[in-house]
Amino acid sequence: MRPTCESCGTAAAADGEAYICSYECTWCAGCVDTFPGGACPNCGGALERRPTRVAAS
Ligand SMILES: [Zn+2]
Ligand SMILES: [Zn+2]
Repeated sequence: MRPTCESCGTAAAADGEAYICSYECTWCAGCVDTFPGGACPNCGGALERRPTRVAAS
């Protein structure tokens, strides 16, 4: 899992909002908003919100 958005380089914190596609391209929420159709611009895959890491485990 990549630690930063592949578009703008913003760090995608473990507890922050981030999106991944089926090929594990990583994007921040701000960039996903700019993608036509909400699809991954690298591979065209559907983006899903990355689960946030739960602190208490
Ligand atoms: Zn971004
Ligand atoms: Zn992708």
